[in-house]
Amino acid sequence: RAKAEGRDAYQFYSADMNSASLGDLLLENQLRGALERNELELHYQPKVCATNGRLVGAEALLRWRHPDLGLISPGRFVPVAEESGLIAPIGEWVMREACRQLQVWRDAGMMPVPVAVNLSAHQFTQRKLSSLVEEVLTETRLPAGLLGLELTETMLMRDVDRTIETLNILRDMGIDLSIDDFGTGYSSLSYLKQFRVNVLKIDRSFVNDIHRENTDGKIAAAVIALAHSLGMKVVAEGVETEAQREFLLAHGCDQFQGYLFGRPVPAAEFEKALTARRMGLPGTVLAKLHED
Ligand code: C2E
Ligand code: MG
Ligand code: MG
Ligand code: MG
Repeated sequence: RAKAEGRDAYQFYSADMNSASLGDLLLENQLRGALERNELELHYQPKVCATNGRLVGAEALLRWRHPDLGLISPGRFVPVAEESGLIAPIGEWVMREACRQLQVWRDAGMMPVPVAVNLSAHQFTQRKLSSLVEEVLTETRLPAGLLGLELTETMLMRDVDRTIETLNILRDMGIDLSIDDFGTGYSSLSYLKQFRVNVLKIDRSFVNDIHRENTDGKIAAAVIALAHSLGMKVVAEGVETEAQREFLLAHGCDQFQGYLFGRPVPAAEFEKALTARRMGLPGTVLAKLHED
């Protein structure tokens, strides 16, 4: 049929698909109702202490339980949400949901660990970010020290003066601030010392190949030293092997996050790790958590 309509029809479709693919448009339409239909959920991935393997924190990672397509990863639908503006209500939901869940665990006497949520650029530039955080903490009765925010270099560098101001307000409130995916974005080292972030997360791409004394290993070691000299803690992302763990530990990395210690799991599953922690069991229990 396309052939019968000839060249013009083909060009019409291809031009249309330059702006947004048909798949993205369909996804966007379905994403519109996803919040109301309760299709979004947070999964929790452990962060462990580098020296003793104990659970010390978690990252909340967004998932979309699509009725037909199953579990969709944020890499697929977060860009669609950002493109369409849907990220505003979704991002707000993520923060509320993480705080709500933490308070549920607290109320149940489970001694939760701090949980960090990922922000999108849109949320970070909003004037009302700090008031939203304050509102959610009040609403959920959660101590600020249990909430963390993960930000990217690109977000921070967009408007440096404004960034410094926002970070100061959030740190004064007691919120943990991390630079996510460090090394993959663009950031000026001279600004880094002015940003009151207290955690630096080394991107998985550097961790992947560090077991040999190669460039990535040297970069990871330098990033750890840099962060420490600026008074920040360092979390390595995507730690999958014993060799990676040993290298990072030898270079003074503070915390690990990665499949070696546990995959992102639904809240009900993560509770098992919280319970194990309470009983003083070592972090290896976490390796038994299964993904998604
Ligand atoms: P991120 O913040 O850097 O999160 C870490 C990603 O690495 C997660 O992917 C996690 O599942 C994955 N990961 C952790 N350990 C390992 C490992 O050992 N090996 C491998 N191969 N991967 C590992 P995920 O959950 O698919 O999330 C992808 C990205 O989506 C996140 O990267 C973050 O940028 C974004 N994202 C996730 N949740 C949210 C959210 O609530 N809001 C926003 N704006 N973005 C989110
Ligand atoms: Mg993150
Ligand atoms: Mg990351
Ligand atoms: Mg990353």
